[in-house]
Amino acid sequence: MNSRPERVVNSRRRRQRRIRRALVSRVRRRHDWFGEIDLRMLERALRLARHCARAGEVPVGAVVYRGDSIVAEAANARERDSDPTAHAEVVALRDAGRRAGSWRLDECRMAVTLEPCPMCAGALVNARLGRLVFAAHDPKAGACGSLYEIPIDPRLNHRLPVVGGVLALRAAAQLRGFFRSRRRNAGSEDQTAVRDHGPRSPARA
Ligand SMILES: [Zn+2]
Repeated sequence: MNSRPERVVNSRRRRQRRIRRALVSRVRRRHDWFGEIDLRMLERALRLARHCARAGEVPVGAVVYRGDSIVAEAANARERDSDPTAHAEVVALRDAGRRAGSWRLDECRMAVTLEPCPMCAGALVNARLGRLVFAAHDPKAGACGSLYEIPIDPRLNHRLPVVGGVLALRAAAQLRGFFRSRRRNAGSEDQTAVRDHGPRSPARA
């Protein structure tokens, strides 16, 4: 007989499994290629994003995988590398190409926490990526449905199926939390500046 805490944990796990299965089957109704593995990789990307937020990066994580094995994974590293192209997707694709020994990644999929921007969507097309799964839509910069539809643009020489909006609430909450705490910190830095420079400093203007 299980102890009470064990029973609670087990029932919570069963409930989570049910929720996951329901989510996968809901997405599969419109995208029959989507499976449990895609959801798992997206959850992994969310964990990567959470870590990079702690390092002061806008939290975005990306995983490139083939079947159920991970080829490469990365988080946004723009601040760390002082590199405007170091979005999670580009960093992960570069690493995936090196590891696979080929720039062509048509057997791979990517799971990413935020809708790719035009640069990253272009990189996915250039990599001939097989499939894309992303979480939150990005109405200000998204190029996979929001502002542009680069992965399915018939004028380009490669197209790839895309599913967006999976675990979107979690990803959006992560981003909101990051920006909220950055604004809070910026506020306290302003206060410091006012204290350091006195009321007539430009920081006060
Ligand atoms: Zn990007």
